[in-house]
Amino acid sequence: MSWRATILTLFPEMFPGPLGLSLAGKALREGRWALEAMDIRGFATDRHRTVDDTPFGGGAGMVMRPDVLDAACEAATAANPDAPLVYLTPRGRLLDQALVRDLSAGPGVVVLCGRYEGVDQRVIEARNMVEVSAGDFVLSGGEPAALLLLDACIRLLPGVMGGAASAAEESHGAEGLLEYPHYTRPAEWQGRRVPDVLLSGHHAEVARWRRAEAEAATRARRPDLWDQFSRRMAEQQNTAK
Ligand code: SAM
Repeated sequence: MSWRATILTLFPEMFPGPLGLSLAGKALREGRWALEAMDIRGFATDRHRTVDDTPFGGGAGMVMRPDVLDAACEAATAANPDAPLVYLTPRGRLLDQALVRDLSAGPGVVVLCGRYEGVDQRVIEARNMVEVSAGDFVLSGGEPAALLLLDACIRLLPGVMGGAASAAEESHGAEGLLEYPHYTRPAEWQGRRVPDVLLSGHHAEVARWRRAEAEAATRARRPDLWDQFSRRMAEQQNTAK
């Protein structure tokens, strides 16, 4: 059975969107993953197909109703029974490559895309949703976050990346470093030369240079990742003693 993404959204026409193209689109056509976008409005029970209401306690905006969302979640989990239910929200844990790896190794994912001010808290708790944030910013809806979550998972599915470099060697890979910089032809462009070592043909030297660049970039750009990496290295050295 292929990896299955079930999306709960008020805008099912946003899917597959960009995921219908390039690597993800090819993998979708090859059946390496499957996609179903369910319209939350289809689970409303009144003749106006209402999915939201005003917030208790007052304040701006509207909140998505728990009864409508619960019915939508019921249908989505029936279609994708073993997949975790993710609610995309800026209040969630930050999406990172470790979570992406976990999700892509499983049977798939059910993703709830919020709109308005968000979702009634009770359905988040009742359905044991995993709350995940795409980053420390606020989108107008969960759909763009769902697209990026799915893209990150799909490229890790078996057979999707084909000949592309292994996922272990890229940024946020097994070692948790950022990747080294890349260069291609021409060897000189606008007075800027490609580092000599990359033209040397010495594989060991190239590997050493790339490793040093990866470490330098991580230290300079992401001190948080560098601290984690350094701690892991120290632990490994201690256990090796
Ligand atoms: N009132 C909410 C808050 O302050 O946390 C923001 C609501 S936002 C306008 C509407 C919907 O967009 C959210 O329910 C969520 O599904 C989605 N969303 C917004 N920012 C997001 C982010 N950084 N990551 C994931 N989803 C996000």
